[in-house]
Amino acid sequence: MPSKNRKISDLGEKKLIKRLLEKSQKYPFKSIFFDTLSFKSRSDDAAILNFGKNYLAATTDLLIQSTHFPRQMTPRQMGKKIVTVNVSDLAAMGAESLGFIVALALPPDLMLSEFDEILEGILEACENYQMALIGGDTNESTELALYGTCLGIVAKDKVMMKSGSQVGDVIAVTGPLGLAAAGFEILSAEKLKLKNINHNFKELALKHALEPKAQLEKGISCSKTGAVTSATDITDGLLSELEELIQANQTNIGMIIYEDKIPIPDEIFELASKIGKDPLEMALSYGEDFEILLTIKKDKFHEIKDKISLYELGYVTSSGHIQMIDKEEKTDILIPKGYEHFKKNDKF
Ligand SMILES: [Mg+2]
Repeated sequence: MPSKNRKISDLGEKKLIKRLLEKSQKYPFKSIFFDTLSFKSRSDDAAILNFGKNYLAATTDLLIQSTHFPRQMTPRQMGKKIVTVNVSDLAAMGAESLGFIVALALPPDLMLSEFDEILEGILEACENYQMALIGGDTNESTELALYGTCLGIVAKDKVMMKSGSQVGDVIAVTGPLGLAAAGFEILSAEKLKLKNINHNFKELALKHALEPKAQLEKGISCSKTGAVTSATDITDGLLSELEELIQANQTNIGMIIYEDKIPIPDEIFELASKIGKDPLEMALSYGEDFEILLTIKKDKFHEIKDKISLYELGYVTSSGHIQMIDKEEKTDILIPKGYEHFKKNDKF
């Protein structure tokens, strides 16, 4: 189709970003702050700039009310979330957080108390991630939107990127998967179907959906081991992120994961059967877990696993695909279908 007749929804978020990067090749930029890894980092979780022995990491994220904030989310939780989504990208690169900048697009009829709550959420999250709010802006808009930019710092020899995994590396994640998905399902499910679901689990799942946390400490600890070969945060679902690592690599790699090793809490199976959903899909394709996906040198994995609690999922192959060995020991090829903006798959 000629490009003038195409809409951005024909491409989706990932292809749009790729297009931006391709276009930028026509404007090569040279600077003492820009080395080979900086150039590559433009398509990574955060951009990195030469800064003596370190890299300065910078990332930005945008959250819009109708797409990102479920009805039940409080203004304080919205404020927290814009910080968390940004910090999660720093965590995925092993960078310590330095400072946060926020721009707020505000509908004029927003209550002042709600505005204050958003700010308090932002400040509380900045404090939790041990950084300061260092600047910002506001403007009028028809819809509430929060734009965050986060700066961080990471030693040059410790930075984790999406590329770099080698055949034989162990694939691991920093925490359980599917809890945020469970929370979103609980928010939209009929009350009757949730009657016998454990109360503590419900609270935990809702917390993951409405007040997610970035795995900053684990990200930094993993990077300091020097044994991580690639990493990214899980925002769009495990499968989608595994595919990101495959695509980012210079050599042809694949990923194999074991179904029975995927850390899915038992209550998710229970919830899924009550509401008629596939628990595996909730863990693999839903996203918003904000855990970190890593590949780690095989000979170092067990030593690290004892220090940092990690879940082993499988290993890197040369197949070019994502494969799963299911509970009957059959091997299937999995096609990623994580959440993608601009495509018609919005959650709320
Ligand atoms: Mg990311």
